[in-house]
Amino acid sequence: MACCPKCDNHSFEMVEAEPKNCRFKVMFVQCSSCGAVVGVMDFFNLSTLIHELNDKTETIDNKLEDIEYEIGKLKKKINA
Ligand SMILES: [Zn+2]
Repeated sequence: MACCPKCDNHSFEMVEAEPKNCRFKVMFVQCSSCGAVVGVMDFFNLSTLIHELNDKTETIDNKLEDIEYEIGKLKKKINA
């Protein structure tokens, strides 16, 4: 089990941080007892971004289908 190197605590928490000279926010993984930082993660972590991107792609796909359907209807009208 993960253990804090400073106080031997076993629970950790994510904390938003803006270190000096860093253009991006990051997330510190720190000990929930003494606050010792044991790890750093990107604020916008990759899996969240990919998930959001998938949702957007799905929406675009649906809209394209709608547009194709409407174009089909218009074509029929023109040919009629
Ligand atoms: Zn600690």
